Amino acid sequence: MNPSIELVSTGSELLSGRTVNRHASVLGDHLRRLGLALTRDTTVPDNLEAIEEAVASALRRANVVLVSGGLGPTCDDITRDALARLLGSKVITDEAALAALRERFARMGRAVTPQAELQARIVAGGTALSNSVGAAPGERIERDGKTLFVLPGPPDEFLAVLTEHVLPWLREHGAGSGALRERMFLVCGLGESAIMELLEKNGFAPAGLDVAYSAAPGRIELRLLATGATDEELERAAAQVRRLLGPNVFAEERETMEEVVGRLLRRCGRTLATAESCTGGLLGSRITAVSGSSDYYAGGVVAYANRVKQAVLGVEEEVLAREGAVSEAVARQMAEGVRRLLRTSYGLSITGVAGPSGGTPEKPVGLVYIALAETEGTWVKANRFDGPRARVRDWSAQIALDMLRRRLLEFPPDSTIA
Ligand code: ATP
Ligand code: MG
Repeated sequence: MNPSIELVSTGSELLSGRTVNRHASVLGDHLRRLGLALTRDTTVPDNLEAIEEAVASALRRANVVLVSGGLGPTCDDITRDALARLLGSKVITDEAALAALRERFARMGRAVTPQAELQARIVAGGTALSNSVGAAPGERIERDGKTLFVLPGPPDEFLAVLTEHVLPWLREHGAGSGALRERMFLVCGLGESAIMELLEKNGFAPAGLDVAYSAAPGRIELRLLATGATDEELERAAAQVRRLLGPNVFAEERETMEEVVGRLLRRCGRTLATAESCTGGLLGSRITAVSGSSDYYAGGVVAYANRVKQAVLGVEEEVLAREGAVSEAVARQMAEGVRRLLRTSYGLSITGVAGPSGGTPEKPVGLVYIALAETEGTWVKANRFDGPRARVRDWSAQIALDMLRRRLLEFPPDSTIA
């Protein structure tokens, strides 16, 4: 039987907006891969009563509770004290952990202070779990048939103790189905509701499957999780999604659009250059975030001022004057210009109003033209994105890459099936 698992994240900084709580997502992801689920995450400030109360309450519901943070040597590190109080136990120094801590400091050429040595303490009755990345050990405590894990707060230390001790313990205790029975689709070109409608309209209603969506600009994640379905049923449902969404699915594993496009460019032996106005290099930055991208990416021009568009990219002065910098004609000439300049198979350009200062009634904020130039001609797509500046820019870069992806797969660059 699978245990129910909860996390109690401690740290006032997690509640005040200074730090994003990453432990819940890291833990949730690892558990999911094991076929397990994180059932609840409670975040509490560095306060004895709050920690004690949250852990007590988690222990009433779950078989396994993880507590993170507050194991350091400073006065706000009070997790051990809270747990000792809750369990009616004491805080003691763990001799093996103390030896490891001294050895660690010696290796770094640092003197150990009594203050630093406080990190070698654990709640009496538990087992210290070595921390391969930091000074404070984690701990496992068994109580009334329940298991409590205590993990350090720094994300790399949390991850180390999680993967070196907690996950192996869960596996040893037979938790999890072993195999992740899930299929994931990353979709660009259709919104969440459009995807749902399309699937439903075509009779997609698989039994024994959970369907979950999560949305980011130009990147909808659709997951099918087999709860009751057999492997064959899961496979059949995945095939149906694949067929219905067609070229709108850009990946079936955790891949970015730039990785997918890079792979396709490499496979086709084609090259790319970019010309960016509204995104100021974001597109180039994403393309070059992929290792080995210099094999297919020649470079890019960030062209803000009209004279750069003219002098470097060869956009005609008269076209700029007549159509404006944010226009189909200028997007076209930018893509063609950079392709000519850098002698690549493709030229990809973006020009748009990221706003809010740039908008006018004719050229509203969020209007973005994206062009793809190639030997056969140039494709231009007019887009209307909504939301703040950063979102418009993210979306623009994503859609530009998606146009190229579709072209490389020999679909029309703006094909969507809806
Ligand atoms: P330290 O010895 O560094 O004090 P600790 O075990 O006491 O370690 P905390 O003091 O709670 O842990 O946190 C240490 C660092 O890790 C802080 O920068 C904190 O913001 C970060 N941290 C703690 N919990 C989380 C979390 N859930 N998500 C992301 N960062 C976290
Ligand atoms: Mg701390």
